[in-house]
Formats: sequence, C-alpha cells, structure tokens
Amino acid sequence: MIEPTIELKPGLYVTATPIGNLGDITYRAVKALKSADLILCEDTRQSAKLCAAYGIETPLAPYHDHNAARVRPGVIKKLQGGARICLVSDAGTPLIADPGYKLVREARDAGIDVFPLPGPSAALAALAAAGAPSDRFFFAGFPPPKQAARAKLFEALKAVDAALIFYETAPRLAASLEAMEAAFGARRAVVARELTKLHETFREGSLDALAGRYRAAPTRGEIVIIVYPPAAQAVSPTALDDFLAEALTEMTVKDAAGAAAEAFGVKRGEAYARALDVKKRS
Ligand code: SAM
Repeated sequence: MIEPTIELKPGLYVTATPIGNLGDITYRAVKALKSADLILCEDTRQSAKLCAAYGIETPLAPYHDHNAARVRPGVIKKLQGGARICLVSDAGTPLIADPGYKLVREARDAGIDVFPLPGPSAALAALAAAGAPSDRFFFAGFPPPKQAARAKLFEALKAVDAALIFYETAPRLAASLEAMEAAFGARRAVVARELTKLHETFREGSLDALAGRYRAAPTRGEIVIIVYPPAAQAVSPTALDDFLAEALTEMTVKDAAGAAAEAFGVKRGEAYARALDVKKRS
C-alpha cells in the first residue's frame, strides 16, 4: 500500500526500519519518511532501496560514524529552522548499536522536539522469539573484538541477574561463545540468525555446545546471542522435584511440568521428563 504524505511537526524523527523483511516497516514510519524534508541515513544506497520499495522520494543525506561530528551542527541548524528530519540506520532502530545518540542529545539540548517512530530491532526480535527468560534483560551490544577487553566485559556481566543480549558478527561467533563459557560457565544460550529473513534460525544449547558447533561449522549472516540469566541455571534438582511432587498431587503431568518450567525457568521438555520420573517414583 502506498501511504499518503502527512503534516509533520518540525523536529527530529528517530525512525526504525526493517532488519530484513521489508514488510516490517510501520505505516507511520512510511508516512513520516515520505513527508519529511530530509532523511539522514548511514548508507544512502541501502536506504534508497527501502525508499524505492515504498515510493519515498524525500532527499537522503549521509549521517554515519565518519561524518557525524562534521555534519551535526548543520543538521541542528536546519532543525532549529523548523525542518522535519528523519534519522534512519541501515537496519533496525537508530542508536541501538548504531549512530544517532549525539544528534538526539544535541537536538534535545537545543530545545528541538525528538519523536520516536518505533519498530524493528534485532535485539528485541531475538528475545521475543528465543524462548529464553525475558522478564529482565541487559542489552550489551557488540562484545569488543580483542580477547582481553572481551573477557573483562564478560566478567563484569557475570553477576547481572537478567538475560544478556549481544550482537556479534559471524566470523567472531565461536570465539565469543567460548569466551562467554569461560566467564559465565554452563549457561544456556540462543543464537538467533538472519531474523525475519529467508534463513532465519534459532539454535539453543549450552554455551559450550554452541561454541563447539560454530567452531566446527562456521556460519554466516547476522547474529544475536542471548545468554540465559544466572538464576535460570541455578535450579537445584531437589527443589524442582519437590515442586513437581507437590504439583502432581493436583495436576496432570503436563500441567505440573508447565508450572515447574515457568517457576524455575527451565525448558518444558526437561520439566516434563522430570515430572514423569517423579510420578513413577511416587
Ligand atoms: N540498530 C540495529 C537494531 O536495532 O537491531 C542494529 C545495528 S548493528 C550495527 C547490526 C547488528 O545487529 C548485526 O551485526 C547483528 O548482530 C544484529 N542484526 C541486525 N539485523 C539482524 C537480523 N536480521 N538477524 C540477526 N541479527 C541482526
């Protein structure tokens, strides 16, 4: 559907764009992109593809790590003059492991309105579908490529009582998983690849098993790693069995396993197998 232009208030529009599937842009984002005076983007060729798909003819200008400091004063000036400017990144939500923080900060400092146009972000897409505990999470961005800095970061994150979300590149995936295993121990993790694209995959296992798998068979594409929170690993088998024994006095095996999985943050299949065992022994 081709969206009409709309009357936009002056200001900066931080606009999320698809992370793979072009259909994931919002109606509001398309309307804003069509109606703005200017779209700031990381790579004009990349954003031109999105614009072509939606009939967006707004001028594009580059705003990326290498020119941001130079072009920012001019952008602020335009905004002060009443311009409506959209900021996009190559994919997903600007500022999330992407440029834009300083622009938003300076715009706010200058009294300019900044509007979020929410939409896709790989971190949340991965968390939403991975099946890892999701009530609390810590987004850690890309781990540093250098071994010592990476190990230091993981050591600092070890005690964080939340699921940890990382972005990682395919060539560094195995080394990163190994370093996570060294710091976090035997935690479960999920490698979410190529989200919303043709070869989308979620692979779950212990950090150790995942590191071995990707060391033996390197992969390609874009990757999010989710590491389970420490508490989810610290399930004592006795506590789990006691809970199941109690639950089985008034529930079916399936329901008791479901309740245990939720209460202890373990996988349903694991809880079901334990529930069968507990029932057999009772
Ligand atoms: N701002 C973006 C967002 O909101 O997700 C992230 C930009 S960051 C420079 C790019 C990284 O995000 C990739 O290297 C990968 O780790 C992750 N990523 C982006 N798209 C992805 C996808 N479709 N599937 C898995 N990970 C993705």
